[in-house]
Amino acid sequence: MRFISTRANILKIIYFLLILVGLPAFGLQVALAQDDKGSLTIGSGGVTGVYYPVAGAICRLFNDSQDAKRSRCSAVSTGGSVDNLTRLRRGELSFGVVQSDWQFHAIKGTAVFEDDGADPNLRSVVSLYPEAFTVLARADAGIERFEDLRGKRVNIGNPGSGQHGTMQVVMAAYGWTRGDFSLVREFKSSIQSRALCDNEIDAIVFVVGHPSGSIKQATTECDVVLVEVSGPNIDALIAEHDYYRRATVPSNMYRGTEREIMTFGVGATLVTAANTSEEVVYALVKSLYDNFDRFKGMHPALASLRPHEMPKDGLSAELHEGARRYYRERGLL
Ligand code: GLU
Repeated sequence: MRFISTRANILKIIYFLLILVGLPAFGLQVALAQDDKGSLTIGSGGVTGVYYPVAGAICRLFNDSQDAKRSRCSAVSTGGSVDNLTRLRRGELSFGVVQSDWQFHAIKGTAVFEDDGADPNLRSVVSLYPEAFTVLARADAGIERFEDLRGKRVNIGNPGSGQHGTMQVVMAAYGWTRGDFSLVREFKSSIQSRALCDNEIDAIVFVVGHPSGSIKQATTECDVVLVEVSGPNIDALIAEHDYYRRATVPSNMYRGTEREIMTFGVGATLVTAANTSEEVVYALVKSLYDNFDRFKGMHPALASLRPHEMPKDGLSAELHEGARRYYRERGLL
């Protein structure tokens, strides 16, 4: 009897504790679900890239705008373009910043998206700024041109990043495989500069707008050179594909880079899914145009934005309804 009553008491205490712990946890879950409803995410890239601060800038303008009301936007650090497109397709992100070449492949179901097939729900929102296929090498590695990478230790970027995919295309254009390098690493952009300066690798490949934190880090912390990427193989790539264009890394943007460097590039674009609310997309695009000068001043890579090019450049996916409505009203389409 005594045993039973003790057991009953213990049970009562356990129930009490459960209620004490369980109720707030339940409340928290409800709150999270509610918050989820109104929260928007923009998938970007590594924190030392340009996608991350630019996605943050877009969110700030949207959050500051009257139209945002119940939605709250935040930038999420991710593996980059291909990762963003994959997560967007799965409904894990509201928006993503992606390279124009990977936007094209996602809409067509080609290259890395061959297994997943075409994504019919992908929609474009706005074209942002040019990104250069940027190769940075240790000054002591004897690398001046892309061809010199042969036999060297090269970081080709993490799988899921835009540069990882674009590098495969460039390697194929040169008739190279991974075996043409003495070592291939797949570091993500946030740690590549450290690895370069620590002499773990001879060169990094990063498809990025300029200036970027990662390149700034390497150029200030050790002796590096920007590498020229040009010649008939690159000319052929640009001639064959609309999403590639000539690009340069401007001179004097970083320590020790007096010369302008020729390369090729893509466009950084913002995409979303067809089921993102028309109001939200409209409000987001409007917040960029309503605060155009502020937006341009939020990152040096945005300084050359042109209102008329933003609804078109490098956008192969159909425009999202909300973006189209805004551009039409502004007479930009
Ligand atoms: N272009 C890179 C990618 O698609 C990201 C560049 C950045 O982080 O700014 O992964």
